[in-house]
Amino acid sequence: MARRTLYRDGALADGRSAELRLGVSVLVEDGHIAWIRPSDGEPDPGPGGDLEVVDAGGTAFVPGMVDSHSHLTLPGGSHWIERGSDPPEQLLRVAEHNGELMSRAGVRWARDVGSPPGPDDEGTRRALSLGVRDEWRGRTDRPYVRAAGTWVAKAGYLPALTVEASDARELRAAAGRQLDDGADFVKLMLDGPEPGVAPWTAEEVRPVVEDVHARGAKVTAHATYSACTRVCAEAGVDCIEHGFELDGDTARLMAERGVALSSTLAVMKSWLTFGRTTTLPRFVGEESERRIRDRLAVAQEGVRNAHRAGVLIAAGTDFGGGSLRANQLAWEVEALVEAGLEPWEAVAAATWHGGLVLGEPSAGVIAEGGPADFFLVHGDPLSDPSALWRVWRVAW
Ligand SMILES: [Zn+2]
Repeated sequence: MARRTLYRDGALADGRSAELRLGVSVLVEDGHIAWIRPSDGEPDPGPGGDLEVVDAGGTAFVPGMVDSHSHLTLPGGSHWIERGSDPPEQLLRVAEHNGELMSRAGVRWARDVGSPPGPDDEGTRRALSLGVRDEWRGRTDRPYVRAAGTWVAKAGYLPALTVEASDARELRAAAGRQLDDGADFVKLMLDGPEPGVAPWTAEEVRPVVEDVHARGAKVTAHATYSACTRVCAEAGVDCIEHGFELDGDTARLMAERGVALSSTLAVMKSWLTFGRTTTLPRFVGEESERRIRDRLAVAQEGVRNAHRAGVLIAAGTDFGGGSLRANQLAWEVEALVEAGLEPWEAVAAATWHGGLVLGEPSAGVIAEGGPADFFLVHGDPLSDPSALWRVWRVAW
């Protein structure tokens, strides 16, 4: 007999408009949404001892969120960089903890944009996140995962973590190898050994994009400096990660070519908190604070340029690869609102926009017939993003 749960009399915040629909009931059958109806004309769910009725009064139903920039095998925190060299067994334990944190925080999908390599069950050395993804398939207490393999970078940039390429030929080969290893998409580093200078030209990146597209996958690129985001847009990668320096021209080119932005503004916000909670010189003191605030202001301007140009914006934490933790996607939604997005647009960035970036039509969506991937919060996230911190329960 079907397992059925009726969530009665909540509000629906689907991230498609600023409008919160009140008095909504949702019937879930065997993990799928059978119907979404006004509570005051609710169909009879039929008899059955199998039916669990959840009084959802005072909550809002929100689509399971998509963390569009995550690093499952890394813990984050103020020592996030050092943690990247922890042994593989440790990183796999970290991934289990992260998966648990995400699921409870209302994050249903993880887009993993890079993991250190290590030996998998068969002893093959490949990005650890790929094994984690395979391990979690079919589990409701873990997010769905789409994973890039290991970061592909210009030789000399983060050598301890990345797969290195010295020239354009090696770049193509390294990207292809990630797909051979089982990666769902490819992650390039478009920042390089010399700060502010793009390590590759658009002419060098374009063939990689063509190769990867020909294999039915997407290419995303980490880029923070304006010269680097420019190359990404010109090369037509599918998405730019961070994009902290994004001028109006580059944003317009992105919109024209369908290049999305995965924003990670909350990284700088977490650094500001480290000014009080750590003794690390790069975070502590007025000078550090001023530098971080300046950087945040530039990145906010970049998000506004992207928004104005009509670029698809998806929200990411960068947990693990940056300093946030796996259950803090709400922080990025708040940061996007602070940068100038309407709250409902920021909720869209953390839900169905992430689904579009992934190419997963059911990700971040609440719809009849679709999976019961929604969660219940207190407050209206379409007007107040802090509601996303107040998770009561998840429906999956
Ligand atoms: Zn990252």
